[in-house]
Amino acid sequence: MDAKECSRCLLNDRIPGVTFLGDSQVCSVCINYDQTWGNWSEKRKELDQIFDIARKKKRSFDVLVPLSGGKDSSYVLYLCRRVFNLKCLAVTFDNGFLSDHAKQNISNACDRLGVDHVYFRLDRGFLYTRLWPFLIHGCWANLLKLLYLA
Ligand SMILES: [Zn+2]
Repeated sequence: MDAKECSRCLLNDRIPGVTFLGDSQVCSVCINYDQTWGNWSEKRKELDQIFDIARKKKRSFDVLVPLSGGKDSSYVLYLCRRVFNLKCLAVTFDNGFLSDHAKQNISNACDRLGVDHVYFRLDRGFLYTRLWPFLIHGCWANLLKLLYLA
């Protein structure tokens, strides 16, 4: 018997945990996602309103876009610049482990999209003695507190 494939995400029912209710063409993962994250057309309206507020301020930049050089943040930068037509400032936190490939991706993305970019780098001593333990343990709330107190 052929696997049933989701019409939205292409997962199929041979994958453990992926099921289809009745004749639905949409899988349980997509339905669960919709139930968890809500109505995206409403969220899109909210996002457009936020962008409109930013544009009306007529600042040098409308948004700050964290950019790692990976495909996810590069795509967000693309969306902000080309789809939402925002004036972007891309920012990369240089933790000392950025690969040359990532740096090249950052340069390519910013050049092609016409986006200004800055690297943010902390003193190595501060980074490794005070911040790295927070990063390792994923305690972002404490990290933010530390940054504001620094
Ligand atoms: Zn699906």
